[in-house]
Amino acid sequence: MKIQCECGHMIHDGTDGLGHKGHLIPDRRWDELADAIDAAIETGETPRHREAAAMRMRVLLNEMSRTVWQCDACGMLYMDNGHRQLRAFRPAGDEDVLGILSGR
Ligand SMILES: [Zn+2]
Repeated sequence: MKIQCECGHMIHDGTDGLGHKGHLIPDRRWDELADAIDAAIETGETPRHREAAAMRMRVLLNEMSRTVWQCDACGMLYMDNGHRQLRAFRPAGDEDVLGILSGR
């Protein structure tokens, strides 16, 4: 996947572990996610149970999260809205926002 930023820079998404990509969890779903993690840990008595719990967690994470990409050139954020469309968010002022999705 590629996103053409307003500034002209191309944002690439072709591999895992990207420093300019993140996943946003809405606060309204946060407790549900924490409860699902607890349930997955508590029901993992056999390899089969652990595998099923891990699969439920992946499905839940994919269903509840929104993907965010940041332009490395201008800092613009692009977030998917869950309907295969992107919403753009421009950084306010001159604050350095590059790397906010890097996880470091
Ligand atoms: Zn840009």
